[in-house]
Amino acid sequence: MIVRKSPMEIEKMHASGQLVGRILVALRKAVKPGTTTMDLEEQALEMILEAGAKPAFKGYYVPAVKRKFPAALCTSVNAEVVHGIPSRRRVLREGDIVKVDCGVLLDGFYGDSATTVPVGRISPETERLLRVTRESLDLAVEQMRDGHRLFDVSGAVQRHVEGNGFSIVKEFAGHGIGRHLHEDPEVPNHVGPHMRNVRLRVGMVLAIEPMVAAGDPRTKTLRDKFTAVTMDGSNAAHFEHCVAVTHNGPRLLTAV
Ligand code: MG
Ligand code: MG
Repeated sequence: MIVRKSPMEIEKMHASGQLVGRILVALRKAVKPGTTTMDLEEQALEMILEAGAKPAFKGYYVPAVKRKFPAALCTSVNAEVVHGIPSRRRVLREGDIVKVDCGVLLDGFYGDSATTVPVGRISPETERLLRVTRESLDLAVEQMRDGHRLFDVSGAVQRHVEGNGFSIVKEFAGHGIGRHLHEDPEVPNHVGPHMRNVRLRVGMVLAIEPMVAAGDPRTKTLRDKFTAVTMDGSNAAHFEHCVAVTHNGPRLLTAV
């Protein structure tokens, strides 16, 4: 069931979205060669608690692996696509890329956003991977209009990514968001037969999150039960925003 949000609820989601957005801006500045992914975790947690919010991912139960995610952030380096666990031992090096995904619960509503941060100088091809993935998110956001359909959103991502020679990681998808972190509908980054193509309506809020691989998009899960990595070791990028469908078109809730 898709829960549409009232204008007042969307204001609340804007507040949680802005908190996540501010955290990602701060973390982007903190990323340097020598930074550990645990440094990012600590900074994020401090900002979340300071704002009177709760981390959305820490303690989030994942039935598929019968475990709770242990941290406030997902930090995924290079071939790690999503759901990496922050660690004191994971030291970022020049040329790496780190995906930082943050979720918060503030005043009853969730915010969820992710970005991919270059560590120092990265290769031109990796830079292109990041740019194309970010652009595919922008194009998808543009489709978040009353009367459009989910396939307009998913198709915009897929066309741009595949048109530029990269591939969609299909095992993961975006989602509705609101009083729950994951709500209906699922928001895939590709279209295909047997997929639900719901009509978008004012009040819907979706977390759109293209996950894109430079090579083969198939992934496997590491022994920690959470971290998804590309099987061929190719780099992956991930960007995510929460977006509301309003009478005035798309409203980005997590961009600051
Ligand atoms: Mg996220
Ligand atoms: Mg999400």
